[in-house]
Amino acid sequence: MTELKPCPFCGGQAHRMFGPEVWIECTECQASSCMHCNIETAEDDWNRRDEDCELRGKLMAAHSKIMCLESQIEKLRQRLDRRGNE
Ligand SMILES: [Zn+2]
Repeated sequence: MTELKPCPFCGGQAHRMFGPEVWIECTECQASSCMHCNIETAEDDWNRRDEDCELRGKLMAAHSKIMCLESQIEKLRQRLDRRGNE
């Protein structure tokens, strides 16, 4: 088994977690890797210090915010169109 690096955030001990999926979690601050379907990729992920995952998470959050704004803009546009036709 691959040796797990200490937590990148607090230096705490990392533990393998098993649920429906597997992930690595810090016992001190509960920082965790992304969910994986096998322990090897979870270990890799943790040992790479999670930069990719963190970025991906931020990207997803930004993306969903944009989608939300777009749908609000579309609703407003429809309301304006309706008003223009009255
Ligand atoms: Zn930690």
